[in-house]
Amino acid sequence: MAQTFDLVVLGAGPAGYVAAIRAAQLGMSVVCIDNNVDKSGKAALGGTCLNVGCIPSKALLESSEHFARCKVELKEHGITTGETRMDVPAMIDRKDKIVHGLATGVGTLFAKNKVVSMLGTGRLAGGLRVEVTSVGGGSGETIEGKHILIATGSSPRDIDAVPTDGKVIVDSTGALDFEAVPEKLVVIGAGVIGLELGSVWRRLGSNVVLLEAMETFLPGADEQIAELAFKEMTRQGLDIRLGARVLSAKAGKGGVKVSYESGAGKQDVEVSKLVVAVGRKPNTQGLDAGNVGLLLDERGYIHVDEYCRTNLPNIFAVGDVVRGPMLAHKASEEGVMVVERIAGQESRVNYDTIPWVIYTAPEIAWAGKTERQLRSQAREYKVGVFPLSANGRARAMGHTVGLTKILVDRRSDRILGVHIMAPMASELIAEAVLAMEFGASAEDLQRTVHAHPSLAETTHEAALAADGRPLNYHG
Ligand code: FAD
Ligand code: AMP
Repeated sequence: MAQTFDLVVLGAGPAGYVAAIRAAQLGMSVVCIDNNVDKSGKAALGGTCLNVGCIPSKALLESSEHFARCKVELKEHGITTGETRMDVPAMIDRKDKIVHGLATGVGTLFAKNKVVSMLGTGRLAGGLRVEVTSVGGGSGETIEGKHILIATGSSPRDIDAVPTDGKVIVDSTGALDFEAVPEKLVVIGAGVIGLELGSVWRRLGSNVVLLEAMETFLPGADEQIAELAFKEMTRQGLDIRLGARVLSAKAGKGGVKVSYESGAGKQDVEVSKLVVAVGRKPNTQGLDAGNVGLLLDERGYIHVDEYCRTNLPNIFAVGDVVRGPMLAHKASEEGVMVVERIAGQESRVNYDTIPWVIYTAPEIAWAGKTERQLRSQAREYKVGVFPLSANGRARAMGHTVGLTKILVDRRSDRILGVHIMAPMASELIAEAVLAMEFGASAEDLQRTVHAHPSLAETTHEAALAADGRPLNYHG
């Protein structure tokens, strides 16, 4: 007899593990099956985000930022120290400890919430059955759910002509584990992941070239911020080459030769390491989607409606394996929505206010519409911009590159989008998301008291600027 649960979750990333916990809170019996293991072969819960994504990348960004500050900024503060040196294995070890601690924490949360955690690979076996094989490929066990939630996430996309070897040609996972600072590094793809990983190794002294096929830098971001970011990243030493399509790469003794095509014709560059960061693909292979009739969309993602229902009854899919932004918080919110709806609640995800963040220095964050989108919809809107250079806290910090921009509906005064380039923009954007979630107007923000001196005052001032009356700036 197959073991039976109210909910069978496939994948313990931010989509799956959060859904499993919420389902248990709602009184369901839950099993969460995940096949990820750490370097020692032990189960490592938390998915891409926790193990090889959000968390380790932020740990390395933090370390490398400290290093860069010691080298460049401390003098300005009147601080003199000895020679600044980087112990890369110690930095990697710190990162691994943070990851291990959080992954263990997910296991503890499972235990406390009575979620059954199972190490193995799940495959849809027809109806509401799932066959689980052990990670080593051993014998299968069949379990059954009243509902199934597929949260199998995504993996790095690769380029056929640039096969990774885990040594000199690596994907984003490999770039989190270099043993030393590469003298010269090429990153293919100047998207969010490429920029973050490129920044880590640049700050530690590597000569970093980013090859980006598109002519536009950060096409999803506000145009003014993308332009400012390009200048700032370039000033920091990132060599960003737009319109550069990589054709092939060949690993040789001690390095790799990368060939790419740009406006200037075909070019080669020789580097010590190559990172392929050209996006991610949904993990649907191995699920047996075809056999059980699970519909995928034209891009290979599991086809779902706005409530993450697949075409099969009582089978849902959430997170990176379905349409929409590949972000951990989007994944988690979808997981919560699905299990709350199973429990009879009216939950939904507000896809209009999902925050985006790029953890460069300064950080870039936005939520809601861009000017480009508003123009294409012929919406009438007001713009309020406040530069960081006019903010007292930013000046005290010595970080004055950036701005906060608010886009406001001209008729209703409702906030339509907020775009920030500033230190801790990832934190500052939360106020904007909340404002938009509550349907706030620019006037609401104008009348909200913000602490002084704080970076959040740039949001207040940008709201005032939308009506042409900033207090601490005269443009
Ligand atoms: P995943 O996290 O990919 O988890 C899926 C899990 O399912 C994995 O453990 C996988 O092993 C397991 N699995 C797959 N198939 C099966 C199967 N058949 N049976 C059992 N288990 C299976 N997002 C942010 O929001 N903020 C960031 O700062 C950020 N930084 C990132 C940095 C990097 C370098 C990368 C690579 C990604 C980053 N992301 C970030 C994206 C984020 O990691 C993903 O959006 C998020 O992990 C998606 O969650 P998920 O649960 O859908 O999938
Ligand atoms: P993201 O999807 O944000 O992770 O970004 C991936 C980036 O890689 C996108 O900006 C793509 O344009 C870029 N890209 C994809 N293929 C290539 C290629 N062959 N050469 C250079 N850049 C690429």
